[in-house]
Amino acid sequence: MDERFTGSFTQQEPIPEEGIAAAVEVMRHGRLHRYNLAGDEKGEAALLEQDFATFTGATYCLAVTSGGYAMACALRAVGVTPGDKVLSNAFTLAPVPGAIANVGAVPVFVEVTEGLVLDLDDLQAKIADSGARFLLLSHMRGHICDMDALMAICDGAGVTVVEDCAHTMGAAWDGVPSGRHGKAACYSTQTYKHMNSGEGGFLITDDADVMARAVMLSGSYMLYGRHLAAPGPEAFAEARYETPNMSGRMDNLRAAILRSQLPRLADQCARWNERYRAIEDGLRGTTGLTVIERPAKETPVGSSIQFLLEDWAAADVQAVVKRCAARGVELKWFGAAEPVAFTSRYDSWRYAETPDLPRTDRVLAGLMDMRIPLTFSTEDCALIARIIRQEVTRQHQAAAAAS
Ligand SMILES: *Cc1c(COP(=O)(O)O)cnc(C)c1O
Repeated sequence: MDERFTGSFTQQEPIPEEGIAAAVEVMRHGRLHRYNLAGDEKGEAALLEQDFATFTGATYCLAVTSGGYAMACALRAVGVTPGDKVLSNAFTLAPVPGAIANVGAVPVFVEVTEGLVLDLDDLQAKIADSGARFLLLSHMRGHICDMDALMAICDGAGVTVVEDCAHTMGAAWDGVPSGRHGKAACYSTQTYKHMNSGEGGFLITDDADVMARAVMLSGSYMLYGRHLAAPGPEAFAEARYETPNMSGRMDNLRAAILRSQLPRLADQCARWNERYRAIEDGLRGTTGLTVIERPAKETPVGSSIQFLLEDWAAADVQAVVKRCAARGVELKWFGAAEPVAFTSRYDSWRYAETPDLPRTDRVLAGLMDMRIPLTFSTEDCALIARIIRQEVTRQHQAAAAAS
């Protein structure tokens, strides 16, 4: 009998008991709105921003309603205006091009490599061709490109970089925390990311003007003085009159849930990486399957894993997905003709121009993806890898025999 896996790919861990207690406390006192403070109370939202700024090493931090909100807010705050072109990854999650559309700007998609990072040669070509002055860089599925090379290209061309760190909270490039290279960086605290408040996000930057505009955009009214990780009143002199209020504040309830998770984040990242390595070890050396090697300078967080079935026929990939699913292993295939559950490829976003991106097409045609919730044990991960390995091997042999 073939082994089967019976765990759930969508089950996260519970909120830590301290987080539950802190949330109950906020509900008891009733001051859920971040600016509703009693006496010299600082409030969970402002304290969370201070904690997250310290965690990343950023000067300023703003907590908001979602990662998507953080990205649109960051784009506006760094000066993107309607009609501007914004470069971004051809393979990312729908809220990334969505944030560009939100500000009335125009996405310009850049190729991704077999390592699932932005193709820096194509980036250079697209900067030259499009004249774009902004890049919304997505560290999609936690894969970080050579950030030193990327920043040299963008700084040299006068391109402002905003980082999407939805999958790299807690990760680093060459020892520098992910999100600390560009002008601003955005994080998500949606349930499937590295901290869980259902919905939520962060925007960090060292630039006082950018943060002042972001705080005003988030809907601070004239209460920005109650922030603990924002610049002083002088930075708001103009922003307070010239920035529209586009309500997207974090509330004290969700902030309380998140504050208990931050001190555990480093440990959680280590637990993800243990599970990632268990799956990667089990897949390595499977004929027909390419493991995505991680660069030595990258300190990733393995909250999901990807591998390539390079140049396989679509029907063979589909057969692997189906047979793994029958054995309880949920693989996502980015090469499917129609997007399932969520969209991640440039040709699903037809409100933007669909360019010719042959390299990305070839990568996505063979790209498999799997979530790694922390509710899986390392033994679960080893079992999952055995199942995938067996089904890939069977299909590869069947295809070879048939041809
Ligand atoms: C989840 C995600 C976001 C933002 O997510 P929200 O659901 O808006 O918090 C941004 N980029 C990527 C790559 C994501 O996976």
